[in-house]
Amino acid sequence: MKTEYYNAVDNKERAIERAVELLKFGEVVAIPTETVYGLAANGLDESACLKIFTAKRRPADNPLILHISHLEELTHLIQDNGRGSELIKYLWPGPLTLIYKKSDRIPNCVCAGGDTVAIRMPSHPVAREIIKQCKFPLAAPSANISGKPSPTNGKDVLEDMDGVIAGVIDGGDCNIGVESTVVDLSGNRPKILRPGYYSLEDLKEYLPDVEMDNALLEPGEIPKSPGQKYRHYAPKARVEVYFGNKDKIHQMIHERIKSDEKTGLLLFEDSMPLFNEERLSLGDRNNPVEMGKVLFSHLREMDRKKMDLILIEFEKTEGFGIALYNRLLKASGGNIFEVKL
Ligand code: AMP
Ligand code: MG
Repeated sequence: MKTEYYNAVDNKERAIERAVELLKFGEVVAIPTETVYGLAANGLDESACLKIFTAKRRPADNPLILHISHLEELTHLIQDNGRGSELIKYLWPGPLTLIYKKSDRIPNCVCAGGDTVAIRMPSHPVAREIIKQCKFPLAAPSANISGKPSPTNGKDVLEDMDGVIAGVIDGGDCNIGVESTVVDLSGNRPKILRPGYYSLEDLKEYLPDVEMDNALLEPGEIPKSPGQKYRHYAPKARVEVYFGNKDKIHQMIHERIKSDEKTGLLLFEDSMPLFNEERLSLGDRNNPVEMGKVLFSHLREMDRKKMDLILIEFEKTEGFGIALYNRLLKASGGNIFEVKL
């Protein structure tokens, strides 16, 4: 398949117009959102959605998130239990996905045969305009081949999807770079199924009884969200992550890079001058948002440089740091180590 490419930074109107046409034809188009790029199709059209599973090589038991642009659309898609209205009022549009019991309009494959559906209202202007003009919700999981790091720029989307889908809309770098926080509102007690930009503390302000699915932060536990049980966010290279005592970590990295393996480093900005090896900056160690923005694209860049091993420096913090910890846990297959004095 020839993949059409449109640059939405240079010519937003044309890019949006063609994306809408292709989506109305039942095709799959990659679109920018504020979190990561989404692989979009008509969320009410079963055969269009099945194309997403094929393109991503996504297991059929992993459901899709439906993206809407206006609140009125929500009522047709869910059986409303009145939950989450404060979250919606203050945090939508944005990087927050809510799970409700589904209405009977939703195709089975979107929910992976279950009785709940995940909904998000993205804030990215290009995504919003495409959804608005389509007049149907867009099913749009991350635009990577299953298991790989999510794409956060047009080049990374093309790496996985060129020749596989009808179109790619390039909106430049994603602002957040990490997937949405997923909150299940369908059960007895609201639960975070996937940590994201919004932390447990952020959500508690609007939903005091929300709790974290603790399996998300333990290696080897089985989480409640189907998508969280798979190997994910992982580059081809092996990954090891270190947090704790900064000087000791530097010492250890110096030891590790003496081996024959081709090793790449992801370091905080203040550590960059200490090494000469292939390395990329994670920004300010006190600002996890900077790390989130570049983490996935750096993992992909290290794969392009054909590294055998990627060593990552990390600061374990509350808030957004929890989402980063969860992604690193997966990307490294559990190889995340605390380094003490
Ligand atoms: P992605 O869009 O690729 O970032 O993946 C969507 C995430 O949302 C995956 O982790 C899915 O398992 C999760 N998800 C989507 N729909 C549901 C649902 N109905 N119940 C639980 N998790 C869901
Ligand atoms: Mg994904």
